Amino acid sequence: MTTLQEFRCEICGRITNNPDHWFVIEYSDAKLTVLKWNLEAANAAGARHFCGEAHAQVYISRWFESICSPPKPDFARPAQVKS
Ligand SMILES: [Zn+2]
Repeated sequence: MTTLQEFRCEICGRITNNPDHWFVIEYSDAKLTVLKWNLEAANAAGARHFCGEAHAQVYISRWFESICSPPKPDFARPAQVKS
């Protein structure tokens, strides 16, 4: 017997057991990898699932924001003022 697995889109919450044209994203602080759907990748620890290109892109954008928007250094603080 085959067991149908269900996957949920990280963005819209859609659930499927037939993830045609879905994508898997693996990411870390250092890199983000978009994978064409395959069960092995989908079941990997930390893998994220997306119902299509649009929602994968939403996630990629969020990742960019998290990488590109670190807490700003405190420029107001005087740096090594010599007097
Ligand atoms: Zn979705």
